[in-house]
Amino acid sequence: MSLNKPVILDGTQVADSIKKELKIRVERLREQGVTPCLATILVGDDPASATYVRMKGNACKKLGIESKRVVLGASTTTEELIAAIQELNDDPAVHGILLQHPVPHHIDERAAFEAISIEKDVDGVTMLGFAQNAFGQAAYPSCTPAAIIAILDYYDIPVEGKHAVVVGRSPILGKPVSLMLLNRNATVTTCHSKTRNLDQLVAQGDIVVAAVGKPNFIQGEWIKPGAIILDAGYNEGNVGDCDYETCYEKAGAITPVPGGVGPVTIATLLKQTVDSAEKTLK
Ligand code: NAP
Repeated sequence: MSLNKPVILDGTQVADSIKKELKIRVERLREQGVTPCLATILVGDDPASATYVRMKGNACKKLGIESKRVVLGASTTTEELIAAIQELNDDPAVHGILLQHPVPHHIDERAAFEAISIEKDVDGVTMLGFAQNAFGQAAYPSCTPAAIIAILDYYDIPVEGKHAVVVGRSPILGKPVSLMLLNRNATVTTCHSKTRNLDQLVAQGDIVVAAVGKPNFIQGEWIKPGAIILDAGYNEGNVGDCDYETCYEKAGAITPVPGGVGPVTIATLLKQTVDSAEKTLK
């Protein structure tokens, strides 16, 4: 057990500070005749995906960002989806494109992501965006990893020289956040479902990122006292990937779920849409 109570890394507060600055930038853009616009594509009728898209649309509206919704039926083919993406690529009024994941199984999701032009890949899902991120040069990194870094920065948490243990290696989360932490001079261990002795590896982490997709998976007894815990997990029942009660007892700082990484991910998506809109003026 750590001696002091952990700092709660309040994602809502971080998101509010990002949005406060964005509001001014959006007003400035609108004065110059540009309304930032995020196009969201929802394929099929997964209720959770529909909720995520609606939340992103509402967040846009609150800041004066236009949200263009494209809803396609569950039987949409890969070719039809790519054609819809091409149309948005060619539309100068659209500055960012978000294809809500997951798409129905029969669709080649990778091919669809790759159809998004790099200039509008504000969700950071293309291979080119990933490669740029690996080189520390992404215009638009994947939003959740960027949100994790934004939280560390907001709270002035040093990364250099620290041992960061990332649990999860998905292309949108575990892998890119590992690379971002490496680019910040952390020593990074990336764990996955075939990792042995996971508890012993997590116990070495000065920084632990949970990106597993399993509720309450990471246990407090694995955590090094005083470690910084960033829980990206978002599971049914508003539960993270860390067992919050026991992790809280050991952590130096911890993100809650909800109210941690999630709101900052949405704010990052909005920020990257505004960044893209600003580029049209240059
Ligand atoms: P994902 O694609 O399912 O990846 C899960 C990762 O966890 C995989 O790399 C998997 O390993 C690893 N894993 C699974 N079981 C494991 C085990 N027993 N031990 C160690 N590693 C294990 O999930 P994701 O899309 O990255 O999402 C992860 C979590 O973040 C989910 O809860 C999701 O809801 C959440 N999320 C949140 C946000 C946000 O805005 N807050 C955004 C995106 C995702 P393998 O590679 O070996 O299969």
